[in-house]
Amino acid sequence: MPQLPRPLVSTLALAVAVLAAGAVQAQTFSAVAPTPAQVRPAVDQAYTQLLSAPQVQALLEAVKADHERSVEDLRMLTEIEAPPFKEQKRAEAFLARMKALGLADARIDAEGNVVGLRKGTGHGPKLLISAHLDTVFPAGTDVKVKDLGNGRLAAPGISDDTRGLAVLLSWLKVLNDHHVQTVGDLLFVGNVGEEELGNLRGMKRIFADHLDIDGMVGLEPAPDGSVLILGTGSHRYEVTFEGPGGHSYGAFGQVPSAIHGMGRAIAKIADVKTPSFPKTTFTVGTVSGGTSVNTIAPEAKMAVDIRSDQMEPLLETEKKILAAIDDAVVEENKRWNVSTLSVSTRLIGDRPGGRTPPDSVIVEAATRANASFGHKTLLSGASTDANVPMSLGIPAIIIGGGGKTGGFHAMSEWIDLTDAWKGAQNSLVTVLGLVGVQGVTPPLLEKRPPRAK
Ligand SMILES: [Zn+2]
Repeated sequence: MPQLPRPLVSTLALAVAVLAAGAVQAQTFSAVAPTPAQVRPAVDQAYTQLLSAPQVQALLEAVKADHERSVEDLRMLTEIEAPPFKEQKRAEAFLARMKALGLADARIDAEGNVVGLRKGTGHGPKLLISAHLDTVFPAGTDVKVKDLGNGRLAAPGISDDTRGLAVLLSWLKVLNDHHVQTVGDLLFVGNVGEEELGNLRGMKRIFADHLDIDGMVGLEPAPDGSVLILGTGSHRYEVTFEGPGGHSYGAFGQVPSAIHGMGRAIAKIADVKTPSFPKTTFTVGTVSGGTSVNTIAPEAKMAVDIRSDQMEPLLETEKKILAAIDDAVVEENKRWNVSTLSVSTRLIGDRPGGRTPPDSVIVEAATRANASFGHKTLLSGASTDANVPMSLGIPAIIIGGGGKTGGFHAMSEWIDLTDAWKGAQNSLVTVLGLVGVQGVTPPLLEKRPPRAK
């Protein structure tokens, strides 16, 4: 999952929840938005009906009964390594399981995502439910699952996000076994490209290919009650300054310096102003260059990171920084009355950003479902697959799939599966309320006009 997750504010009881261990670990509490004290009556009513329906009760029992089998899926998938850009083998295994559990038309798309549509009764919303295939671990990592006892398993990637994949398969199985007919469509996805260098390429493809998605619920390791609503966007650049270079004494006055030019740029960037809300940040993270102390530098490089909780200030800040770089080159050339210093910029990171309003139906649905499982909702933020729909204004949340988890992105990554089925039930209930169940509840998620290509 995520880079720099941070909880925002709590909800239902308006109490600020304190986080235990987990993916969404407390860093700073920023009260970005007031959250509703209670959910709207339609949401409350839908979940009351849903949870009292015998068909849904039986379905939830089936999630519990399927726990041991789903742990076998978890072990199997975890032991197929899936480094960024090398998710194919795991994708094929996940696809085979999806087909075996009843999505005959499931397939792997052009980007490498596994996609399967479970149709509703028609005219309902289309909800994307997803978990990511990729892990941060490079090829050759020992991904053998170790049994630590007392329900604890350890292996790189086991919780982030292989548990999410196994939960999706379990939902598919129980929905089919119990012939549950949802009103809206469920688009089951195991996607590629969530982790850092993937730049969300999998999700970008999903939303480019499916213009009629009305909402997204992603599964990631997270404590019970956690609902991610904020997706911090980022753009990253590698900037290279180049000139002829020359002797520090002999060529002085005739050539510009790549390092001096970059220094001018950094000074200008350091003065860029950004809003504190939505939080927008920048930094020149690394610098390098030069040949020796007595050489006018022919080359200098820096890496710049720009982030924001919304796209507009992100793009605004990016514009200022790119202009500062160009101005700096003009100044350095002018200083020596030459035109031999040049600069090139390369986008090396591109994650869109956005936010799902805390008072939207999708957040209230998760909040109400959490409450019925005895959990206070904690609204959080991070950079995840949900950044893509959020940047498009499509309601999206990331929730947990059950189990206590920790050690993400470390070789010691673990999951405690004791009672983990409760989390899988809780998140499934959230999903069912959103798409509706035929004969039980209408969908809560609104159908949106399809987006243009
Ligand atoms: Zn993840």
